[in-house]
Amino acid sequence: MAISSGATLLKFRRTKIVATVGPASRDPALLEALIRAGVNVFRLNMSHGTHDEHRSAYAAIRAAADSCKTPVAVFADLCGPKIRTGVFPGGPITLADGQPIQVTTRDVPGTPALIPSQYAALGDDVVVGSRILLDDGNLELRVDGKQGSEIACTVVHGGVLKNNKGMNLPGVTVSAPSLTEKDKADARFAIALGIDMLALSFVRTAEDVEQLRVLIGQGPRVIPIISKIEKPEALENIEAIVRVSDAIMIARGDLGVELPPQNVPNIQEELVAFARGFHKPVIVATQMLESMIASARPTRAEVTDVANAVRSGADAVMLSGETAAGAYPVEAVRMMDTIIRQIEGHQFAHGAFSTFDLYAPMRRKPAPPIPIDMAVANSATLLSRELLARGIVVMTRSGRSVEVISAARPAAPIVGVSVDEHVARVCCLLWGVVPVTVPDWPQQDARTLAVRLARDFGLASDGQTILLVRGFRTDAAENSPSVSVISVL
Ligand code: PEP
Repeated sequence: MAISSGATLLKFRRTKIVATVGPASRDPALLEALIRAGVNVFRLNMSHGTHDEHRSAYAAIRAAADSCKTPVAVFADLCGPKIRTGVFPGGPITLADGQPIQVTTRDVPGTPALIPSQYAALGDDVVVGSRILLDDGNLELRVDGKQGSEIACTVVHGGVLKNNKGMNLPGVTVSAPSLTEKDKADARFAIALGIDMLALSFVRTAEDVEQLRVLIGQGPRVIPIISKIEKPEALENIEAIVRVSDAIMIARGDLGVELPPQNVPNIQEELVAFARGFHKPVIVATQMLESMIASARPTRAEVTDVANAVRSGADAVMLSGETAAGAYPVEAVRMMDTIIRQIEGHQFAHGAFSTFDLYAPMRRKPAPPIPIDMAVANSATLLSRELLARGIVVMTRSGRSVEVISAARPAAPIVGVSVDEHVARVCCLLWGVVPVTVPDWPQQDARTLAVRLARDFGLASDGQTILLVRGFRTDAAENSPSVSVISVL
């Protein structure tokens, strides 16, 4: 027996790439290079940058996507109750193990002996003995005492502390609301800008998501919500959160600080399967190619981390500092694209994605009758695998039918045909979906359109088989979904 390391690469990459925009990538030419390298979705991180910077980045992304003639989604990531330090005008400070240090909630500049916190209720929430983790848990303080705005601490693990670094309080119930006043202002700004989705950080309950939904409801479009799972409370309430969210992000950076890092891999695996069971897209985020912030080549462990996320069935993998602030943003995207293609080529060769058991996400086959959309998606998936269909053309209005079919992980690329560009862009996040906007598809002959699209995308030529899925309606009286098998002639 021989093991082959390579794989025949598929024409369309199924797992999507999310890239965070920042100082290293706001330049229009660079954004275009990132799209050409494989970015499907951009993240504007509201924890950093000004509205003016986000506005010009957004305009540059749209211009770059137009010039690449490809739909690209943009989401704004709201900070939520992320607690941060203030700034140190004298430059980064160095904390030594065992040293006493004071934390204050006063709005004052930091010094080597004083760490300002931007969270006013810090003193109310911590108790003597609480741990305060700084900079993604790289530094640790222990609370020795508190009085009003002042918290006396001892440094447990020292190191260098820069401006505006994250503060985590593991085991402490943070009293700040999940949707802060800044989040509300950022959400209104981002919706007015035209973004496609919103992400909410530090979601703890389904009510947090619903609050944001109410705010979105006052705006002009349906904006999907990505709930970032990074708190132990979110894991306790996961089913309710997934039900009310449109997608989830496994935000491993903060999750691995709030919980022991060794717990993250099992949680990641379970969350990917859990979200798929609810047909909700799932993003695996943070430190995927971290070393590429400073180096042109990733570590072998990082390559394996991306590969494992792909194998587990995530819809998308995300780059953070690598594209926002790194020295090699385009190389990082290219590397991610290459890794995904290798893994997917191998998965396809070994059973056309049949390792993604249709019922695995639900842990057991649900008792019939199962929901109609799920049954149709499962049938289309089985047909795609057994006929080795070249493409699945899905006619969609809201994007929901495309989402359900994508969640079943069929063998062939899914051409998601929507009437409007916003829906097409939202579909950029979904596994295996090639979004396209055809504003008048409801007036066209569906078979003819499906064959034309399959040919235009280079999916099928004469004699090959495609599937056409149509007829989904939210109104039960009108719902009559069907799957047709079409020979391209
Ligand atoms: C994370 O914590 O993993 C994450 C994605 O959040 P952020 O990058 O906003 O800190």
